[in-house]
Amino acid sequence: MGSCSNDSSSENDDPASLENLDDELVLPLKLMPLHTNGWLHDMKLSSPTAVRVSNGSSSGTFDPIYRAWTKKYPSALNAFDHIVAYGKGKKIALFLDYDGTLSPIVDEPDNAVMSDQMREVVKNAALQLPTAIISGRSRDKVFDFVKLTELYYAGSHGMDIMGPVGKHDSATDGRSSTNSNEKQGEEVKIFQAATEFLPMIDEFFRLLVEKTKAIEGAKVENNKFCVSVHYRNVAEKDWQLVSQCTNDVLKLYPRLRLTHGRKVLEVRPVIDWNKGKAVEFLLDSLDLASCKNALPIYIGDDRTDEDAFKVLRDDKRGFGILVSSVPKDSHAMYSLVDPSEVMEFLKRLVMWKKEEASDSRFLNSDRQ
Ligand SMILES: [Mg+2]
Repeated sequence: MGSCSNDSSSENDDPASLENLDDELVLPLKLMPLHTNGWLHDMKLSSPTAVRVSNGSSSGTFDPIYRAWTKKYPSALNAFDHIVAYGKGKKIALFLDYDGTLSPIVDEPDNAVMSDQMREVVKNAALQLPTAIISGRSRDKVFDFVKLTELYYAGSHGMDIMGPVGKHDSATDGRSSTNSNEKQGEEVKIFQAATEFLPMIDEFFRLLVEKTKAIEGAKVENNKFCVSVHYRNVAEKDWQLVSQCTNDVLKLYPRLRLTHGRKVLEVRPVIDWNKGKAVEFLLDSLDLASCKNALPIYIGDDRTDEDAFKVLRDDKRGFGILVSSVPKDSHAMYSLVDPSEVMEFLKRLVMWKKEEASDSRFLNSDRQ
């Protein structure tokens, strides 16, 4: 897939013209770095205490530090007109993380239920725009939460992708790509980037469950192509223990590696695959790889979403929107405070798309 960076012939075709925002403000803030040494340190950095703030899009409490941060990462609601200006006449492809983006972060991961209102908004978006959910969870688990057949689903950080037949090409990158009848009730196309790792991940999961069973609040989740170790219910004094246990088991599996999410450690195969690669794969599959006819928008709250933000930013291809109520460093270009702002953004996007479609129908009928 070619980069779009050299394709942009006019200012309007180049979303990265906003990159000068990087230089606009030298933040006098201690931002969360993307990469640091020391797992315990990383666990603390990945788990900031959430602070409800207003980012200027609505009235409410006012946090000057957050406001300074939003000069670098403007609110996607405030910048909505600017964002859709780049999407005019193009196909907007929507990529959404699940936890912390469409559902609130909750103490018990199995209770991260999406509201009916959010489900309706996501469904409306999928009817107007190609829409995919890209999550660290297993694909089946995400579908159980979302329950919408109109979407593409990429589980296990994009290592397990499903889309309706006919919309997905046969690109497999030498990996597993099959048709199957899934419980969603229709024939679907499956792309799996790491099938050979499945027995290893299963073994790692069972060993780690055994190793961590005495740690109160620790929950190890098998997400098929990756294992999540949730510590959001573990007392902070025991985080070191969670880290040590995971490290001990991980040493036995040099082909697995660890990444940090929000109050979760994630172990996955050492392969060149992540949420950014999944976005590239889906854009290719949807024939939307060129920024001349497409504007991808990715909304997520995790450090694992940074790979996707980076792909869109580096290739000057589209926009990443970070969901965060605290200032942190990111490859995203815009921000939203929480899932309720994500819902508002999606509603406005759907409304804008409908108006654009109706304007273009009107213009076409006028010409005839
Ligand atoms: Mg998330």
